[in-house]
Amino acid sequence: MAASFSNRPDARSAANHDAQPLQAGVSLQALHTFGTKATAPWFGSFASGETLLRLLEQGPVRAAKAPTPQTPQGAMPMILGGGSNVLFVGNPSVPVLANRVMGREVLDNGPRYVVVRIGAGEVWHEVVQWTIARGWGGLENLSLIPGRTGAAPMQNIGAYGVELERTFQELEAMDLRDGSLKRFDKAACQFGYRESAFKKEHKGRYAILSVTLRLDKQAEPVLEYGAIRQTLEEMGISEPGIADVSRAVVHIRQSKLPDPAVLGNAGSFFKNPELDAEAFAALEAAHPDIPRYPLADGRVKVPAGWLIEQAGFKGKTFGATGCHARQALVIVNYGGAKGAEIWQHALRVQDTVEQQFGVRLHPEVNAIGV
Ligand SMILES: Cc1cc2nc3c(=O)[nH]c(=O)nc-3n(C[C@H](O)[C@H](O)[C@H](O)COP(=O)(O)OP(=O)(O)OC[C@H]3O[C@@H](n4cnc5c(N)ncnc54)[C@H](O)[C@@H]3O)c2cc1C
Repeated sequence: MAASFSNRPDARSAANHDAQPLQAGVSLQALHTFGTKATAPWFGSFASGETLLRLLEQGPVRAAKAPTPQTPQGAMPMILGGGSNVLFVGNPSVPVLANRVMGREVLDNGPRYVVVRIGAGEVWHEVVQWTIARGWGGLENLSLIPGRTGAAPMQNIGAYGVELERTFQELEAMDLRDGSLKRFDKAACQFGYRESAFKKEHKGRYAILSVTLRLDKQAEPVLEYGAIRQTLEEMGISEPGIADVSRAVVHIRQSKLPDPAVLGNAGSFFKNPELDAEAFAALEAAHPDIPRYPLADGRVKVPAGWLIEQAGFKGKTFGATGCHARQALVIVNYGGAKGAEIWQHALRVQDTVEQQFGVRLHPEVNAIGV
């Protein structure tokens, strides 16, 4: 894999960079979308599995991995992608290694399906555009999700009725404990709603190096969710192709979500709670107008944003943070907020919603240094 994933110019420059030894005390502020101040005790980046292996052998990583009474297994370095799903509540205590493994490779190009392997450091939206330009369908509803490809399986990214698992075939990852390479097929990833084995039993153990996807040359557009159909109508498109769907999704996202380049945020802070039928019935009795999305297994998903809005947080500021005025589920940094301050606000929202509705919200964002 390494040869085909290091022959592009951007990969070469990243490879030169990542041949450097780890740097001490590096600011992460520009490397994550909340834009809060945070410092990595040690920082490096890697453009291939081989260079990651070399980083794992460096002193600070070996020191972090040494077992202690608190961490009998040792502590693994943190792998950072685009930093769009993390909140540095405090400084990370372990070395931070940025994944910059580039490369896009067509493994199989059949009459109907194409199988592509994407380097984990590739920017997700650029990959989506690349597939759409070639007429390969499946990723269009996932347009404009920030971040890099390697993080996409972490929480099985999803938007507008489509999740990564729909096109996912397999991924390759390095075990940070011993440097061995392992392939995970769809079953091994245990995908769920914003979930995977990499957030549960394998948490922190693997660095994902590449993701293999199976895309459909005759994909049926998925139009049932959000305002896609209505937006396409407004665009005057009655028979949309995948490029049209992507444009509609980009339009909706730009009108609804704050741009992290302007206002620090990490998208939806909490997952939408999935309630069993009994819990939902109790909630509905008290709040007949509550929006709901029935699930195939009988549970009911309710929008966390609605609960937060009803609890009075929408658009209300607390110091330099608060829930966004257009989308209450997005917690923002209005400028100069500390990670701990944002985390305090998230806990305040979580407690208030639980008191008012009896529903516990669970963060979607990965809180570091709590
Ligand atoms: C404005 C906005 C909108 C968003 N909308 C959506 C949305 O619609 N749907 C959605 O699902 N998400 C959404 N997100 C969240 C985020 O963009 C995705 O979760 C994205 O996949 C994170 O990618 P990243 O590279 O930035 O990951 P990071 O934030 O860098 O990392 C996230 C987690 O994955 C780990 N990680 C990252 N890369 C690797 C790797 N290669 N190997 C092992 N572990 C790794 C990190 O250690 C961390 O725990 C949104 C975020 C923002 C800011």
